[in-house]
Amino acid sequence: MTDFTMKKDADGVAIITWDVPNKSMNVLSENGIRELDGLVDDALADEAVKGIVITSGKPDFAAGMDLNVLGSMKETGGAEAIFGLVMQLHGVLRKIERAGMDPKTLKGGKPIAAALPGTALGIGLELPLSTHRIFAADNPKAKIGLPEIMVGIFPGAGGTTRLVRKLGAMGAAPLLLEGKLNDPKKAKAAGVIDEVVEDPVAAARDWVLNAKDADIVKPWDAKGYKMPGGEPYTASGFMTFVGANAMVHGKTLGVYPAAKALLSAVYEGAMVPFDQALKIEARWFTNVLMNPSSGAMIRSLFINKEALEKGANRPDVPDEKVQKVGILGAGMMGAGIAYVSAMAGIQVVLIDARQEAADKGKAHSADLLDKAISRKKATEEKKAEVLGRINATTDYAALADCDLIVEAVFEDPAVKAEVTKKAEAAIPATAIFATNTSTLPISELAKASSRPEQFIGIHFFSPVDKMMLVEIIKGKQTGPRAVAKALDFVRQIRKTPIVVNDARFFYANRSIIPYINEGIRMVAEGVSPTLIENAARMMGMPLGPLQLVDETSIDLGVKIAKATRAAMGDAYPDGAVDEVIFRMADKGRLGRKANAGFYEYDAAGKRGGFWSDLGTEWPQSDTQPELTEVQHRLMFAQSLEAVRALEEGVLEDIREGDVGAILGWGFAPWSGGPFSWLDMLGAARAVEIADHLTEAYGDRFKTPALLRDMAAKGETFYGRFGGKKKAA
Ligand code: NAD
Repeated sequence: MTDFTMKKDADGVAIITWDVPNKSMNVLSENGIRELDGLVDDALADEAVKGIVITSGKPDFAAGMDLNVLGSMKETGGAEAIFGLVMQLHGVLRKIERAGMDPKTLKGGKPIAAALPGTALGIGLELPLSTHRIFAADNPKAKIGLPEIMVGIFPGAGGTTRLVRKLGAMGAAPLLLEGKLNDPKKAKAAGVIDEVVEDPVAAARDWVLNAKDADIVKPWDAKGYKMPGGEPYTASGFMTFVGANAMVHGKTLGVYPAAKALLSAVYEGAMVPFDQALKIEARWFTNVLMNPSSGAMIRSLFINKEALEKGANRPDVPDEKVQKVGILGAGMMGAGIAYVSAMAGIQVVLIDARQEAADKGKAHSADLLDKAISRKKATEEKKAEVLGRINATTDYAALADCDLIVEAVFEDPAVKAEVTKKAEAAIPATAIFATNTSTLPISELAKASSRPEQFIGIHFFSPVDKMMLVEIIKGKQTGPRAVAKALDFVRQIRKTPIVVNDARFFYANRSIIPYINEGIRMVAEGVSPTLIENAARMMGMPLGPLQLVDETSIDLGVKIAKATRAAMGDAYPDGAVDEVIFRMADKGRLGRKANAGFYEYDAAGKRGGFWSDLGTEWPQSDTQPELTEVQHRLMFAQSLEAVRALEEGVLEDIREGDVGAILGWGFAPWSGGPFSWLDMLGAARAVEIADHLTEAYGDRFKTPALLRDMAAKGETFYGRFGGKKKAA
């Protein structure tokens, strides 16, 4: 089986086509590197070949490196093997770049161009960057860029060094540090590729046949090259690097090893000749790949996320793709669910008690589409088409041919029971009924249904159009068809599902509430709010607990606290938290929506410093705890809850626990999720910390028996639970 093939035509152009068998997208493997190398050698040595075009046999060019290969290489060969592979790759790409030219006169090389029919990501762009000219098809759906940083690594096949030398550190920064992807036209405007054309292979052929010696010398190989924007020790370069350093640290607070390593590779590489810079890039790349963070990020955010999206935990029943969805309740959530469904091409019936409310729900889609049009992300035709799929009505008879219902009316069991009965009277007997409740047990709500095996929870997060996680909750009687339907629906709307069992707050809310509560509890204890928020952010949480509760609203916290207290009675553990949030609510400090919460907000809603009276209401202690102690409290509050969810069988798969935590509530993405984080810490150390926290702060930190057992046996979560699940 070959990944690369070559055809030489009568004009002397060798066309190298990348087409990995049995894959919808090209990815680069060790074997592929060797094949490409051999073909390039052959073409350069063949006197009949005047130029080379590298293209793809698929609609897209390539998705990048096979991350599974890097993962297994790390396991078996360690740093040496990775460094060796990267240097081998550099050798091939540098050979393409030099194209057989005389290194002194820079003459006599063969022009090599890349022709990209579609998407080119990661190494799928680093390979073209080593050629002399990049032609891309005018395909607005194509994505071009270097997204490595999103999974905790950085472009290590010369992409970092070449892009910085091509665009300067400032120009390359958004592409490297944020993994920004562009369509071909924008990629050309950014200077990443050279031409956008109808037929890239034809244009590339033409170009290689006409290119002169000077056309194929890269600026950094020519005499007198100066880096755009200046090298680090020039006046302008100095400003760039100092600024970049501060910006990256401000954003990542030092918790993402890849961002730091990338900057080091760029800075150190900028001061030495090109080939030396590639070696430095390879060293830093190896360093990052050996860091446990990148392995955990790749595992959760790439491999396992994709496995879950492809249905790793889908029951084995026939296709349950949704044709028509009925949404009950056109409020904030219902309106959002209608939008994402209609965008996915699904017919929608959007029902509310009053026609105005239903219309308002539909108007939410119009608003979002208008915004997309103003950003040139959608057209008027697209808007008309999407809105045409949404029937906003009060008439339950319109649900007659719906195969899925998603209920999103008020969080009140009686109202939910009433609409369940009304809808079930109208829908086909085979339809699946889902509720979007965030707090009510699914098995209880299912009592209103005459078909409890077809009743399930599909829990969206707000705002629906932005949040990627959907939590699917099985009630006691939920059957496999309902689970399959929910998973197929989530796949259609292109979100990431986790499937959990029914328990108070399911998985995500169950784990995030203790995090928020721990932060609030510390305010009551006199811990500095600055310390609380910074401790969280320095662990990689996107929002500190106080900012988070401001965002979700303090009265929601009050409502949940009251309902939980009523349900739990004497076992209710959060009295100290309630004292704070009830007082905040009494004073009208309901969070961002009231422009007043733990933080101050200006008239435009921009967040400022902490509420000036916070220190009067809850005076700060003279002695403050250590940073690590605060971090342990905040991280263990969430992580121990995740372990309990696993121990109790709410979670059935730690992959879902990790992916769900990052996508659902932003659990420190650098760590790969709570189970990956605890594995990095080691069970023995985790037990030690949990035992200390229990003694110092109480039973909410009680060490789960599972963790203690793992510590005794020297096990990890992924060692104990990771291998058994069927692959997607
Ligand atoms: P909302 O108050 O914005 O919307 C509820 C809608 O239901 C209103 O438009 C109301 O008119 C309609 N409604 C009420 N009774 C009805 C009836 N008998 N028939 C038809 N329509 C009726 O509430 P929301 O925030 O969209 O929440 C809806 C559900 O989603 C709740 O169960 C909530 O717990 C859950 N949820 C909310 C969030 C969130 O962040 N707000 C997140 C996840 C889940």
